[in-house]
Amino acid sequence: MTTLVHTLGYPRIGAHRELKKAVEAYWRGELDRDGLEREGARLRKTHWQDQVDAGLDLVTVGDFAFYDQVLNVSVMIGAVPPRFGHSGGEVDLDTGFRMARGRAPSGEPAAACEMTKYFDTNYHYLVPELYQGQTFRIASERLFDEVAEARAEGHPVKVVLTGPVTWLWLSKAKSDGLERLSLLGELVATYNDILSRLASTGVEWVQLDEPALVQDLPGDWQRAFESAYATLQSTPVKLLVASYFGGLGDNLGLATALPVEGLHVDVVRAPRQLGAVLDRLPSDKVLSVGAIDGRNIWRADLTRLAGELADAKARLGDRLWLAPSCSLLHVPVDLDNETGLDSELKRWLAFARQKLGEVVTLAHVLDGNETATDRQRVEEANQAVAARRASRRIHKPRVAERLARVVAADTRRGNAYATRASAQRKRLALPLFPTTSIGSFPQTQEIRAARRDFKKGTLDVADYEARMREEIAMVVERQAQLGLDVPVHGEAERNDMVEYFGEQLDGFAFTQNGWVQSYGSRCVKPPVIFGDVARPEAMTVRWSQYAQSLTDKPMKGMLTGPVTILQWSFVRDDQPRAETCRQIALALRDEVADLEHAGIAIIQIDEPALREGLPLRQAEWQAYLDWAVECFQLSAAVAADQTQIHTHMCYAEFNDIIGAIAAMDADVITIETSRSDMELLDAFQDFDYPNEIGPGVYDIHSPNIPERAWMVDLMAKAAEKIAPERLWVNPDCGLKTRGWAEVEPALANMVEAAHELRKRYA
Ligand code: GLN
Ligand code: ZN
Repeated sequence: MTTLVHTLGYPRIGAHRELKKAVEAYWRGELDRDGLEREGARLRKTHWQDQVDAGLDLVTVGDFAFYDQVLNVSVMIGAVPPRFGHSGGEVDLDTGFRMARGRAPSGEPAAACEMTKYFDTNYHYLVPELYQGQTFRIASERLFDEVAEARAEGHPVKVVLTGPVTWLWLSKAKSDGLERLSLLGELVATYNDILSRLASTGVEWVQLDEPALVQDLPGDWQRAFESAYATLQSTPVKLLVASYFGGLGDNLGLATALPVEGLHVDVVRAPRQLGAVLDRLPSDKVLSVGAIDGRNIWRADLTRLAGELADAKARLGDRLWLAPSCSLLHVPVDLDNETGLDSELKRWLAFARQKLGEVVTLAHVLDGNETATDRQRVEEANQAVAARRASRRIHKPRVAERLARVVAADTRRGNAYATRASAQRKRLALPLFPTTSIGSFPQTQEIRAARRDFKKGTLDVADYEARMREEIAMVVERQAQLGLDVPVHGEAERNDMVEYFGEQLDGFAFTQNGWVQSYGSRCVKPPVIFGDVARPEAMTVRWSQYAQSLTDKPMKGMLTGPVTILQWSFVRDDQPRAETCRQIALALRDEVADLEHAGIAIIQIDEPALREGLPLRQAEWQAYLDWAVECFQLSAAVAADQTQIHTHMCYAEFNDIIGAIAAMDADVITIETSRSDMELLDAFQDFDYPNEIGPGVYDIHSPNIPERAWMVDLMAKAAEKIAPERLWVNPDCGLKTRGWAEVEPALANMVEAAHELRKRYA
């Protein structure tokens, strides 16, 4: 009665980001199509071999993509938006790239498809688009070719595809009046064709990813699951429906009753659902238990897991499968490539390749057939778990004691906004419609080179700092020329808004190769928060102080907020996220206090990631928002009345969290709106936002230079909903990815727009 071991997916980028390099070379015209295809095939072969070498019983085919796996399905079923001019036949590689990025080596450019975060991850997928008269058909042979490739290698194959209901759930209807669910029947028919084709090539199992099952599903979507899988039950392959990123909750009955051969559940995110699933699972079904964390980088506690899964093993016998909780796409590839991490910390971690080994060992332990390797792995895991629990590097009593002393008053400013606003008006003497930016200015090649040389050690501290000061002086001077009311120092010294702070805080570690795909060829290397967070010394004060010394205008100090630092890091799993966030908040609180003492009158605490932290289930939103807001306030509320606290968020979907944003009680919030034509203001229809607000009027994501009249119009719209005295004029995000040639005229127009607004509303 052996337990079958598989993975829902494996990272596709390669241990050294080979995929990124190949794809980008292809886009630049430096690698031809065959070269790119060969590199793709080589990577797939390596990844399958990793799975076989680790001892998995099935290798996963279908998790590879040159850009995105959801896009792969859209291409495969021929869901190409009309603007890409596809006229039937096979959808080729470049059409897929044009859907992803708007252009490709061949084919006419067109507006790229929208990209958004996949559930609560940092991975972005391309939103499928649906139009009136939409049809589906098999429009790509790619998946079948990959299956043939894997079989040629002699591997036992399991195919993975985004499931039909989740694909539809993630899509957007682009024609008025089009109901997405009206397309379900035809969509499922095409899935049926795909599954039959797969069966005819000898595939036995197909995993259909249906993470929509862990969200709140309206009744018609629950019924869509029933009807889709009722249709698919006659397919000649065996289906494994995979849920992940959370518990099935009220979809438990629905999921266990689907007429398929197997179900995958995530017991890392939702450990308590296992018993309920076991009780409900029909006796003819396989249960794939996702027990190894596919979203985080900690070595698993194999002994504890074996204990927790013993009952499942006893009840299911060989109907038990084991896997990571979700695709390993969300973790870095291989810990063995980390040479800079100290050996103690390294022993606490496991990346994708190590996680395969963990699943295999766990299965062997459950089955009672451990090898010597398994025994050693369990022993090492036991040691790592014990070491982490006791480590003085992790647990700093000082941090815990300070947190325990936090009282409600620490999370509230001394006085209400109205009182603060008048103190700030007196101190800052800003005009109506004050102008500012979001923080960063163009990061030129020279700045990046200086930072790189400094890190490498070829540029010494003194020279590096001199370079940065020069840059700051230049940026401050340009802002003076432009006439911006609240200048910034420009963030030249920061490579990344989280890494920059993490590197200066205790409790953070950094990998050399811990890349994770974010979107397309873009990868991020999240810091690892392994221990209690503390701030040994001030982090930004001298830069802000220097910048302030160059101008009489109030220099805005720039910090990344606690929720964003948490959200964009791998966080410890031995305490609640809220607890880690509070520790970061306290460190930032000290930074706010130091900036204030240094005479900085305006401090911005960026929280662009606040919204993406929202749990997948609405019932959990409030609890999250409560601690997220509390953490922001814990950082900010140390400021005196006359210190103005700003925050910044770059998205427009505020309507559902506007109350929480107001509760953050920042004196000023700057936000994205320009792309959505002030759609954000709908949020203010039923909610009176009480403080000041800068609805971004300059879309920094576009190289276009916004016209003065256009910005005046946008602000006039805003002024219909928000009193002009509470409005700011600013771009919608940082300018670091732009060039000065665009930024200068754009900001000049923006300042002129503010002048016109002042006249109009004086
Ligand atoms: N202050 C940051 C910048 O201007 C904010 C970046 C962001 O919102 N992601 O670059
Ligand atoms: Zn932003």
